[in-house]
Amino acid sequence: MLILETIADIRNFVKKERAGGKAIGFVPTMGYLHEGHLSLVRRAKEECGSVVASIFVNPLQFGPKEDFSQYPRDLERDARMLDECGAAALFHPSGDEMYPGNFSTSVEVSGLTDHLCGASRPGHFRGVSTVVTKLFNIVLPDRAYFGQKDAQQVLVIKKMVRDLNIPVEIISVPTAREADGLAMSSRNVYLTPEQRLEAPLLYRSLKEASEAVAAGERNTGKLVRMVRDRIGELKGASIDYVEIRSIPDLNEMEVLKLPALMALAVRLGKTRLIDNIVLGE
Ligand code: AMP
Repeated sequence: MLILETIADIRNFVKKERAGGKAIGFVPTMGYLHEGHLSLVRRAKEECGSVVASIFVNPLQFGPKEDFSQYPRDLERDARMLDECGAAALFHPSGDEMYPGNFSTSVEVSGLTDHLCGASRPGHFRGVSTVVTKLFNIVLPDRAYFGQKDAQQVLVIKKMVRDLNIPVEIISVPTAREADGLAMSSRNVYLTPEQRLEAPLLYRSLKEASEAVAAGERNTGKLVRMVRDRIGELKGASIDYVEIRSIPDLNEMEVLKLPALMALAVRLGKTRLIDNIVLGE
């Protein structure tokens, strides 16, 4: 696998692959890879002749009090994992390569980004949409793969691609989980052993809500309360949000219309974890 650090080099590489008749699958990440990321790479390998992954911890999508500088990084290990999965190239640009000093443009998807993670992380999705647009323009992939774990992110990227006529197909891949149900995340390494034991309750509570829906519950207020009460059992947990929203517009609803997205963000100590489930699937 090639590791390429400049925009010119990755463009050249992609050009050659395309000239060889290969479709380009693209997996953008911030690195510190786990099985969740690799499931995107494997899916891309199944569907595309050549897979390009990127690792770039994008400063634009972190708030001033967030964990940009502490975000875990291990390029050597990541490169080995990508190579073993059959990625053809890794694009790993520097901050200056992506954002030279005079950079001043951003991409904003309005509406969809007003709530859920958009409300608690102002500017986050502007950073995501901007970097993903740049990466799409650099790599020019046929298909790009995103995890359902970041459900709002997938909806935002799909909307952006439609609104701006970016010629790429967006594929959403199911959330990879640890054996006890915890959604895999690079940030799970921040959890203390005690928090790690508590964290699976987040997904368990979403599953319980989903089971209540299967049993006929349609009152969204009650379902949200159920999940909030369960999470309230955890000592160090503070709930950022638990919400049920329509798909794909993320509108609120009192009476459940299926399928719907139930999403949560919860802080365990200093670590903010997100997870979601599609009700009625
Ligand atoms: P990140 O490195 O956290 O920016 O994630 C890069 C991509 O991997 C995004 O599309 C995420 O949604 C996806 N991803 C992260 N965790 C998981 C997971 N547990 N299962 C599936 N996809 C994931």
